[in-house]
Amino acid sequence: MTDGLVTDCIFCRIVAGRAPADVVAQDDEFVAFRDARPIAPVHLLVVPRRHVASLDQIDELDEAVAGRMLRFVVAAAREAGMQQSGYRVISNIGRDAGQMVDHLHWHIVGGRRLGGIG
Ligand code: AMP
Ligand code: ZN
Repeated sequence: MTDGLVTDCIFCRIVAGRAPADVVAQDDEFVAFRDARPIAPVHLLVVPRRHVASLDQIDELDEAVAGRMLRFVVAAAREAGMQQSGYRVISNIGRDAGQMVDHLHWHIVGGRRLGGIG
């Protein structure tokens, strides 16, 4: 591992520019890109650049970075034009939630009326 990059992690590869992604926003700490298999007209993923396996490992993130993360998520949703219409923010953690990529990520889903969860 170098600079937190886990080379067999697809989201680390996207963050490093080593795998293709439709990036819609980024800063020093976070990257937002379109989900490759969208479940709604707008389906973004927000990831911290630093590899952390899931939200359950949030203590591994710098406290200031963790604090800015949800602000970045909301800013990305606003930039996608969903502030008025609304949207859903989800982070899957582990097996029972169906987490497939073990790099902390937030789904931002909207652009249509969403059904209830669960
Ligand atoms: P989950 O781990 O279940 O919370 O979801 C992982 C999400 O990542 C899924 O919605 C996938 O469609 C998405 N995904 C996986 N690989 C890529 C990729 N290379 N580019 C964009 N989205 C991806
Ligand atoms: Zn990673």
